[in-house]
Amino acid sequence: MQDKLFIDGKWVDAQSGEKFDVVDPSNREVFHRIARGGAADIDAAVTAARKAFDYGPWPRMGGAERAAILRRMGDEIEARKDELARLEVRDNGKPLPEAIWDIEDTAGCFHFYADLAEKLDQNPEQDIPLSMDGFSSKAVKEPVGVAGAVIPWNFPMLMGAWKVAPALAAGCSVVLKPSEVTSMTALEFGIVAQKAGLPDGALNIVTGFGPDAGQRLAEHPGVDKLAFTGSVPTGRRIMQTAAQDIKAITLELGGKSPLVVFEDVKIDEAVEWVLFGIFWNKGEVCSATSRVLVAEAIYPKFMERLVEEARKIRIGHGLEEGVLLGPLVNQSQQDKVLAAIERGKTEDAKMVCGGGIPKGLEHGCYVEPTIFADVSPDCWIWKEEIFGPVVCVRSFKTEEEAIRLANDSRFGLAAAVMSNDLERADRVARAFRAGIIWVNCSQPTFVEAPWGGYKQSGIGRELGEWGLNNYLETKQITSYDRSKPWGWYLKE
Ligand code: NAP
Ligand code: MG
Repeated sequence: MQDKLFIDGKWVDAQSGEKFDVVDPSNREVFHRIARGGAADIDAAVTAARKAFDYGPWPRMGGAERAAILRRMGDEIEARKDELARLEVRDNGKPLPEAIWDIEDTAGCFHFYADLAEKLDQNPEQDIPLSMDGFSSKAVKEPVGVAGAVIPWNFPMLMGAWKVAPALAAGCSVVLKPSEVTSMTALEFGIVAQKAGLPDGALNIVTGFGPDAGQRLAEHPGVDKLAFTGSVPTGRRIMQTAAQDIKAITLELGGKSPLVVFEDVKIDEAVEWVLFGIFWNKGEVCSATSRVLVAEAIYPKFMERLVEEARKIRIGHGLEEGVLLGPLVNQSQQDKVLAAIERGKTEDAKMVCGGGIPKGLEHGCYVEPTIFADVSPDCWIWKEEIFGPVVCVRSFKTEEEAIRLANDSRFGLAAAVMSNDLERADRVARAFRAGIIWVNCSQPTFVEAPWGGYKQSGIGRELGEWGLNNYLETKQITSYDRSKPWGWYLKE
């Protein structure tokens, strides 16, 4: 297992010589120690990235050449899928099938952006028709420069891929700062990059803590573009910091996403997606549908089935066969989620399932699948992101009421609707004020489609061609054909 920083194509210790613990949340044991990068290491990484961008081969290669290297990175990740997934389980706690899915998507993300890098060659510029004779103009896309990427701990390797792959495809060089809580698979990008022949300095990885390494990356004047995924408070801070020298930013922040269930659905189909929408990845999902609105006519029956099925969810170590809910990512997250549940118990809501640490699993950071019913929209648990396996449910009477309650949030990342009436489902999908809408499902995510939030859930879109555009500048080149003198100052 790697324990160093990856800077300018080399593995180096932190300049301070310091290290920090890597912890397995299933038993709270330290299984590794890695370099604690600080401001000086970020400075070295940005210098390497600047050199790679300003003088190195990466941005000067054709898209097809970059695509070949990105494809090799994707192939290598795919080939090591099982090993990388097991490392993710150990570091993050998620069940193995979910980790395998993450790693497959990580490889897929590199393959997808390899294809888009190639397309950049085929369509490098666009002629712009002008309204004045004698001039012609074209728009040219160029890499934005050095990109800084700060990522969270819930999908450690995949969140890295969502930023590293499009940035490299565009021709940018990158400095990646993973979450201190889950840095292990991020370091694997360095190993994969070396193997694939990525030029030195095109990708640099600095493990370390948010307030020192992360903060320095956000404020570094050598960084042209910052891409951040994480919480709203840190996102706000990053935005303020980036404002200092007007860096381009993309923010993917939190959510409290609604799922509206109409009376015409099959109850079990709705129960399946409600469970997946909140208990998948332990509920540590920015787009988790954590507020569920159910039509009054089916509410009692729906709640009965939901609780019945939630109680059956197998909780345990991520490598155990059949486990669907692993430990939360660390002790701090377990404490936060348990505190949120305690707060919910004092509010205008009824806890009908879970609510504590599962018996026999006290040695790890486990929390039971927890359901609050009849939750009043004034409750703190209804409004705030808990980021754990906790769902709030209430009933509604009319479509208008469901839409109003769904949109009554400072977040707008995702929303979902379930109905047999596809016209109604489409009407509600369009009425939601959120960036990602699911109809008759919740959570499936595709590299081809735009991802990002309205309101306080963020700025900009990742994935698809939108993800690539984040790392491209648009340049106007306008030429005068000199058919006659301009004649403003120098009259004939
Ligand atoms: P976080 O505390 O905001 O941390 C995110 C990243 O920012 C980590 O790498 C963290 O490093 C770093 N960081 C912390 N303070 C910083 C600072 N002052 N300057 C620069 N970087 C700093 O969020 P988290 O707890 O890891 O992740 C959970 C949150 O992420 C949730 O709110 C969730 O909704 C959101 N999320 C959103 C999406 C999306 O696509 N919209 C996806 C996943 C997660 P350290 O870990 O070392 O402190
Ligand atoms: Mg860990």
